[in-house]
Amino acid sequence: MTLFVGLDLGGTHMRAVAAEPVEGQRPRILGDASRATPRSGPTDVIAALADTIRSAVDKAERALHDVVAVGCSAPGPLDPRTGKVHVAPNIPGFTDVALSERLSTALEGIPVFLDRDTVIAAIGEGLAGAARGARDFVYVTVSTGVGGAIVSGGRMVRGATNTAGEIGHWPIALMGPRGSGATAGIEGLPPCGCGAVGCVESFAGGRNLATRFGVAEASEVFRAADTGDARAKELVAQAEAALASLAVGLVNGLNPALIVVGGGISEHEPEHVLEPMRKAIRERAFKVPAAAARVVPAELGADVGMIGAVLAARERASGRGEWSQ
Ligand SMILES: [Zn+2]
Repeated sequence: MTLFVGLDLGGTHMRAVAAEPVEGQRPRILGDASRATPRSGPTDVIAALADTIRSAVDKAERALHDVVAVGCSAPGPLDPRTGKVHVAPNIPGFTDVALSERLSTALEGIPVFLDRDTVIAAIGEGLAGAARGARDFVYVTVSTGVGGAIVSGGRMVRGATNTAGEIGHWPIALMGPRGSGATAGIEGLPPCGCGAVGCVESFAGGRNLATRFGVAEASEVFRAADTGDARAKELVAQAEAALASLAVGLVNGLNPALIVVGGGISEHEPEHVLEPMRKAIRERAFKVPAAAARVVPAELGADVGMIGAVLAARERASGRGEWSQ
């Protein structure tokens, strides 16, 4: 049987699975390995990735030469065609790294296909999860940050430089007008990690939500809101309003059949994520696209990156360089 490897390169941990794809379903995972991501530069990171893949293949009781291709999920920005990571902010020294080429060399020439984590997740949900069969959908993740990927007419929307789908940085807030020039109307807004203000993520991303409340985890903000804390309730209401506006923008601008919502916060707090999105679409979006759009939870949970990476490897190894369904 053909074997594919799914690989997830995260800032703190890396994980590899060796798996056999099963048509229309989740791949059958045969071996699974993970380790801490080295902080000592790209050469050590790439060596650790190769070792993690070899461990996963060993655990599957298979040999490296059985592997057809590796699909690698990494945070953007990156170039899926050349396999180059432009910058991975959470991994020291990981700037302009030819990841696919160097990892392939370390793996005796096995092709390595790189893509952004949210694109990989959308491929997973599209082929084996909540968006099976859908040709027009948006994948949204609400977690530490807010991100996404857009599939339109059965094709992944890439944009001119492969950053299309970064919907966490869709500006949704306008206050003022108290500033002037470039900052007109944006005074008083919380800063976003991207350096701008007014982004969806600055209100609804877990890290920003926790920081604004002065705690370590977003879950603490939701618990405080549940027990009636006025400031927590205000922050949760703002997060809901940000996601609601995002949902209306997606429906009006892209006319998706599905908005598939994943990520830790949407999984644990669906009433604060999916429900406000649905309500806003009903009440505020254009009627025709609103009637066609459903907001549904992602199906693949915490394994979405691994499942998506295995399926992305299979798709691209079969010659479909630009994913479509
Ligand atoms: Zn931003």
